[in-house]
Amino acid sequence: MNNYTENIYPIFDRLLQKAAKEKLLKQRTKALWMTGLSGSGKSTIGQYLEARLHKDGYLSQMLDGDNIRSGLNNNLSFTASDRKENIRRIAEVSKLFVNCGIITLNCFISPTKEIRDYAKNIIGENDFLEIYINAPLEECEARDVKGLYKKARKGEIKNFTGLDSPYEAPQNPDLEIRTDQMTVEESADKIYEFILPHIKY
Ligand code: ADP
Repeated sequence: MNNYTENIYPIFDRLLQKAAKEKLLKQRTKALWMTGLSGSGKSTIGQYLEARLHKDGYLSQMLDGDNIRSGLNNNLSFTASDRKENIRRIAEVSKLFVNCGIITLNCFISPTKEIRDYAKNIIGENDFLEIYINAPLEECEARDVKGLYKKARKGEIKNFTGLDSPYEAPQNPDLEIRTDQMTVEESADKIYEFILPHIKY
């Protein structure tokens, strides 16, 4: 705890319980934490998955780099401490949604075990599923969806994950998806089948 929280008295114990909200929504909730290189397919899969869940009556909320960094976290840079603060806020937001019975689809590179564990600790281990969206660097670079690899190769972006900043692959993810070996639909459907037992009421 820091100094600013000493006079704050959380009221979580007086709020309506998560279970009551899950009952209302007729679903159980999880935070899906999708980690992987830029261009590996996190956002594309997240969008497809959100639509599929919606169609089948499951309420979810996608959180990804672009919607968070342009809003809530628009004052944060890419220094190590701001990257950590970025993840802390995302995990706190995710936790609020999860406690409201809503499934979250979190699409963030989150390159280190430390940063993923940080998110897991905030959200709570029981509510957290780690999904490794895996495609080889060469494939992600060839896709170069946002032209970022090109910029990074030219030196216009520093500390780019996979190039001059390391990506630590998860050692024990709950699920791994090889997006270089499957279509978008197959990838998202595989995640859907995997999470179904966790979210079915
Ligand atoms: P990220 O969010 O991880 O940075 P994006 O979703 O923005 O990645 O980009 C991934 C790109 O890879 C998209 O152009 C997408 O169409 C393509 N792609 C090819 N195969 C797959 C797959 N199996 N799953 C997800 N994306 C794929």
